[in-house]
Formats: sequence, structure tokens, C-alpha cells
Amino acid sequence: MTAVHESVLDAIGGTPLFRLARLGAGIAAPIYAKAEFLNIGGSVKDRAALSMVLAAERDGLLKPGGTIIEATSGNTGIGLAIVGRQRGYRVIAGVADKSAAEKSDILRAYGAEVVLAPTSVPFEDPRHLFHVVRRLAEEIPGAWLANQYDNLANPDAHVRTTGPEIWEQTGGRVTHFVAGVGTGGTITGTGGHLKEVSGGSVTVIGADPESSSYGGGDGSPWYVESIGHFLHPETVEDRWPEAYRSEVVDSFERIPDRESLLTARRLAREEGLLAGPSSGAAVAAALRVARGLGPDDLVVVLLPDSGRSYLSKLHSDTWMRAWGFLEEAETDGLRPLLDAAEPLVTVDADATVGDALELLRTAPGGVAPAVLPRPARPYGLAPAEVVGSVSRDALAAALADGAAKPGDPLGALVGPALPVVGVGQSPAEARAAVGEAREVVLVLVDGKVAGALAREALS
Ligand code: PMP
Repeated sequence: MTAVHESVLDAIGGTPLFRLARLGAGIAAPIYAKAEFLNIGGSVKDRAALSMVLAAERDGLLKPGGTIIEATSGNTGIGLAIVGRQRGYRVIAGVADKSAAEKSDILRAYGAEVVLAPTSVPFEDPRHLFHVVRRLAEEIPGAWLANQYDNLANPDAHVRTTGPEIWEQTGGRVTHFVAGVGTGGTITGTGGHLKEVSGGSVTVIGADPESSSYGGGDGSPWYVESIGHFLHPETVEDRWPEAYRSEVVDSFERIPDRESLLTARRLAREEGLLAGPSSGAAVAAALRVARGLGPDDLVVVLLPDSGRSYLSKLHSDTWMRAWGFLEEAETDGLRPLLDAAEPLVTVDADATVGDALELLRTAPGGVAPAVLPRPARPYGLAPAEVVGSVSRDALAAALADGAAKPGDPLGALVGPALPVVGVGQSPAEARAAVGEAREVVLVLVDGKVAGALAREALS
């Protein structure tokens, strides 16, 4: 019989597994997806939110009339809003300003207050979301900071619920567990429990964005939201969350954005599971792992949230094309022009005027993106790393009229960021993006800046 609940809080957890029959076709090992978007708040974070609030009440940190505060990518905020409001608290969610707008809207709908702050600045910067919510927690009387990254009630939720559910649902046959790592709560709690009940025989695989530092990347930016560990080039002291225990993870599959996003789109079309980008990363990792396994193995992959929060992003063809993740018939797009253009030139934002001028000799249109200095760029240049532009004409003019000397740092000579189009967009769209005032447009392939096209190349 279908369940009848006295409280929505009773509808957290107990999510079904779905066999990925189409994506897994031709693979001997069965792959089952744990559909966490079927939780009452729509994500795996409902579990952590309930666990953290109950633990805070038990420990006397949260009292009647209190305020729950958290920095959240959205899903933890939704979970905390539902649990918090049901238990009579005020809820304030600090949301990264780059998060999808739908995420803030839904938090407000559940009765939370939303404070936006950046996460793209160095961690030490007082404007960073982390410090903004800490200050609020100090200033508001009776406030409790949930602190999901270091709160051990977060992984504990999965030790008590997600792990045992998977063990029971598979009748103890699960051999591999695959999940993304954000706070690490899911993989640490679920993976840790499955290892324990199986006598250590379950293998735990982390699905990580290619450039994330959990799996061995340099921490440079990626697109898939809510998973991975980002490292701003100016961050001095980096540490991993306490909710994450790296020894639980046997290995990582490092998944490029394109593979994650395209896999999430296939999940919706081929399996009827509309999920978010971190689910795409996890399933892409599960497919890679399962290909090397046999019929006696059983892979469980966790889908953290629903694709409804990303309809204007990965589930939109327009968005995918604008970021260079979708390329149609080559003649329609910018690929031929990109192949014919001079290679991309970038200038470090802290270079000298003289050095920059030298670099700009071969830049298409005499203009190049100014970028945050990062020694090597093995994962390509993300638009978020472009801080502005440098123009040969502007530098030459500044030298000619004595406003700058060749040894000066670029400083105020760094101009505004350049317009950006995806390689799958048309030359007409690229021309429109350049407009009348600019000389050059940057072109993205798989979300990374792959080249620059000067206005003349587009006519
Ligand atoms: N995917 C999504 C969509 C999430 O919201 C989160 C949690 N921030 C994760 C993955 C990662 O889960 P965890 O924090 O438990 O590692």
C-alpha cells in the first residue's frame, strides 16, 4: 500500500532504485540508480538536513525561536527550509551568486530567506559566501550554523539511512557504489556503511569533475554544480571538509563537463530520469566502472537531485550551444572559422605592459583575454578565469603618450571582459555578440575558451 504520512519529514529517505537498462545496454554488470530526487525536498540533502537539525536540537545548539543558517548550493537550503520550518525555526540560506536562479526562488517558496554572495573569490576574501554566513550566525541571537561541510551529522545521515537502504534493496549484492563528492557526506556515510556491512568487499568510486582537486586535478573551475573541490589560485590555506573521509574512496573517475552534461541529458531521454548535472557525472562514472565488471557485480549510482532545477542550463539546447557543449553540422557553426583563426593568445593580468604587447603581436584582432595567473592550464581556460581583456592599440597608445612604461604592470590597462559564444552558434550570432563597440569574440568549446575571432573574420 502506498504510504500515508503524518509529517513530510517522514517522507525523507526510502528512495527507490531504478535499473539503467538502456544506458547500461551491452554491459554485463547491472547498474541501478538511487533516485534521491524523489525525496520530499527533491534531493539527497533532505537526509543530511534532517539529521543535522535533530542532532543540533539534541546537543542544545538549536532552541525554540532559533534561526538556522547555512551556506548552500540550494539543495541543503531546501532541506533545511523544510525541516526547519516544520520544526518552527527561521531559516537563512546563503547561496553562491553563480547558482541557478531557480534554486533561490524555491528556497524563498519554502519560507527561507536568501542571501547571495560569491564563491569565486579567494577563500580568505571577507566577501566569500563562507564568511558572509559566519558573520550572520555571530550577529543573530539564537542562530545556529549548520555547517554541512564539517558537521558529522551530515555523513551520519547516510550511515543510518542511505547505506542500509542500498544494502537491503540489493539483498546485499551491491559490489560497487558510485557518487559525487561535494561535502563528502554522501560518499563517506553511504560508502563507509556499505564497506562495513560487506566486510570491506564493496568498492567505492568517487565521480569527480576532471579539474577538481578531490580526484587529483588542480582545482581550476568546471561547470557541474555541487560536486568537486575548487581551488582559487590566490587561496593560501586549502582544506577538505571534515564530512569527507578520503580513505572511504577507493578510486576516482574524473569526468569532463561535456561527458557529465551529455550523460544527464541521456538519462532523461533514454531512462525517463530527469536529473541534474552531478547525477550525469555519477552515471558517467558508473558506466566507465561497470564496463570493466562481470554479471556477478552490481553497481549502485546515486542521483542527488532533479533536472527541474536546471531546465535553463543543461537541459536547454540553447544553453548547451552557448557554452560550446553542443555542436551541430559543422557548416552551421563557428568551427571552420575557429580552425582558420590564429591560435588563442592569453595575457596574465599581472604581466608588464611590454610583455603583454609582445604577446599581442599574433592575437586575433589585436585583443586577448586577460587571465588569472595559474602556472599550467591542463584543463583549458574557463570563462570564469578571464578577468578582462588587453588591447594592442590601447597599450601602444598608453606607451606613446607616456601614460605607461614597458616595465609597468598592466593594472588599469586591463579592459572589460570580451563577449563569448559557443562553437555551435552561428557566425551571425557571433557578429551580434561582437556588436559595434568590440573587436573580438571568444569562442567556447566544451565550456573552455578555445579561440578568439576578430570582427573581420566574421564578415
Ligand atoms: N549533487 C548535488 C546536486 C548536491 O546538492 C550535492 C550536495 N551539495 C552533492 C551532489 C554532493 O553531495 P555531498 O555533499 O553529500 O558530497
